[in-house]
Formats: sequence, C-alpha cells, structure tokens
Amino acid sequence: MIYLDYSATTPVDSRVLEAMTPYFSASFGNPSSVHRYGQVAEAAIDSARETVASILNCRPDEIIFTSCGSESDNLAIRGAAYAMREKTGAKWILASRTEHPAVTKTLLHLEKYEGFLIEWLDVNEQGMVTPEIVSKAICENTAIVSVMYANNEIGTINPIKEIAGICRANNILFHTDAVQAAAYLPVDVNELGVDMMSLGAHKFYGPKGVGALYVRKGTPLVSHLTGGGQEFNLRAGTQNVPYIVGFAEALRLTHEEREQRVAHVKPLRDKIIGTVLETISDSRLTGDMEARLPQHASFAFKGVDGNLLLTLLDAAGFACSSGSACKTGNPEPSEVMNAIGLSRDWGLGSLRVTLGVHTTPADVDAFLNVLPGLVEKARQLK
Ligand SMILES: *Cc1c(COP(=O)(O)O)cnc(C)c1O
Repeated sequence: MIYLDYSATTPVDSRVLEAMTPYFSASFGNPSSVHRYGQVAEAAIDSARETVASILNCRPDEIIFTSCGSESDNLAIRGAAYAMREKTGAKWILASRTEHPAVTKTLLHLEKYEGFLIEWLDVNEQGMVTPEIVSKAICENTAIVSVMYANNEIGTINPIKEIAGICRANNILFHTDAVQAAAYLPVDVNELGVDMMSLGAHKFYGPKGVGALYVRKGTPLVSHLTGGGQEFNLRAGTQNVPYIVGFAEALRLTHEEREQRVAHVKPLRDKIIGTVLETISDSRLTGDMEARLPQHASFAFKGVDGNLLLTLLDAAGFACSSGSACKTGNPEPSEVMNAIGLSRDWGLGSLRVTLGVHTTPADVDAFLNVLPGLVEKARQLK
C-alpha cells in the first residue's frame, strides 16, 4: 500500500515518539501538583511552550495547548466572538467559504444559537481570498475575520500577511487556521501579523489529539472549556503532558528540516501535476499553481465519481483522498468545489494527492502508471 494522503494525517516521527515516551510512565505527574512529580511534568510543559513560542516568535504565555486543531479553531472563534460582543457590541464575523468545518460549523453554531451575523467571503477561481475581498467586506461592526493560511482540499495559500494588515488597520481581530500550513510554511506570528493562529500536531508528524492556539497578548478571549486554571485560565483540564511534549518536538523538527522537506516533495508533486494534466483528458488542477502547498496536488476530472475513483485506487494499493469527507448515498460536490465555481460534473470528480517525507520517486511513478487507467474505468462505470 502506498500512502499519498499526508494532508489527512502523518505518521508520528520516531524522534517525536521517543521524546514523548517517558511522560507516559516514569514522569507521569500532574503538572498542577506541588510535589516533585508535578514539578517534572510542569517543567516539561514549560519547556514545550518555550520551544513553540521561539518558533512562532512570540511569548510563551501566548501559547495555549488544546486537544486538536479543531479545538483551537473553536477557542479562537467562540472565545473572541463572546469577548468582542461584550467589549464593543460588534456581531459580524467574516470567514472565507473554503474554511475547514472546524471553522464553518462553529460559525453556523454562533449564528444559530448566539445571534452572531456571518458573512462568507468569496474566493477567486484558484480558491484564494484576496486582500481586496476582505477590504470590501469589513465594516464598523466586524468583530473577527477568519481566513485559513492554506487550504486542506486544494492547497491554495492565502495572502495572510496582507489580510492581517487590513484587519489591524481597522481594529478587527484576525484569526488564521494554520493547521494545514504549518507543515511547510513559515509560522512567525509577528511576520504574519495575526492575532490568533491554530495549529494541530498530526499534520506535521506529531500525534493526533493535540493542538495549540497562539493568542496575541491583549486579545480579548473567553474560555469555552471551563474548570481549573490551566493554560492561563483559557483551557481547563489537566494537560496531556506526553502529547504536548510531542507537539513541541514535532514542530521543532518541522522548523529545522523545513527546507529539506520542501526540496523533497516539491519536484515529486510537480511531476504528478504535469503528468496528470498531460495524460488524462478532461482533467484540471484545482487551486493555485504558484501559491500552493509544496506537497499538495489536487485535481478535478470531468464525469468521474470521486468516491468510486478513491475505491479503485485503494484496491490498486494507493491511499488518496477527495479532500473532503466523502458523503455516501447522495454525493454532492464539496463547499470548496462550489466556491471555486466548478460545475457539478467536474466538482464530483475531485482527487487530492498529498506527499510526505516517506514518499519516494518510485511511489510517484507507480501511481502515475495506474491513475489514467483508473480514471477511464471510473468514467465507464458511471
Ligand atoms: C486537519 C485540519 C483541521 C482539524 O485539525 P484536527 O487536529 O484534526 O482537529 C482544521 N483545519 C484544517 C485546515 C485542517 O487541515
């Protein structure tokens, strides 16, 4: 089986696992305890927080550890929405149409149950939120803008620095979901100018079930998980010490090895894009060709059932994705396919191929050998 779905999740780096292991057994203390067991655990968390802060170029007390990227998105958006409503009365939240469900569903919840007003920002045909789109949409009553750093489904990188600048100039909080981006793009929060940024470890060779939220000092935020005073009173619950240690080690290695990792995946990705567009009729790239994650290739094939293609690929030994959770029964194109303006006969035939540190040129060749035949087969079976 060849794994070509690194944007869904990555295997845990053995060095990360090694760093985590002592905190399951010998150093098992509760970081809130006063005794030495607690001190050891607390020191591990402090050190992890310092590592993450140094990579993000922020203060350690601006890092909140959470249980996943989704929770980070929830804390940022719910927390800032409640705080801004209390502080200024502003009720509008702007977010792009291509956000991850951790953002979109959270906003729909705030709209339905809390009376917030949501404006969905359009994207261009490459799936990008341009600074002009944001400039036009903001108004006096905008509380928060949330635009993802890079899209999980089509790999498009948004101009986060420019968008953050517009928000700052208008005194609007800006959050970015960097869960997909952090594996390959720089995450210096001062360079980016963001107020809040979500991360999740399992997209960069860390464990599943741990995330972090960067919150710029002074950003008004209300905790949505209440209880003990952990994480500066912003996220109650005994910290998951081994996973937090794993998060920091995975991010440290990602930061240290970023250039090598990009140099490894990018030519392989370019080969996939070039070959697919050349050899498969009625195929197109989805997302931006230039402003694109280096490990990410995504396509639409006209007249293909994307889920059927994934099943055929799986049977042939290749693990890929359509880029969104597949809906069985009555398939509908994903929100992202709709947002970039693809018609139904194209939008249903999406394929995402994402590479990682273990992908070899032979894997890519094997994939490219079978894909054209399987697309043809999927077209005939439809
Ligand atoms: C994976 C992902 C998430 C969710 O992260 P989890 O840690 O799985 O909860 C959120 N946003 C984006 C862009 C993602 O790719």
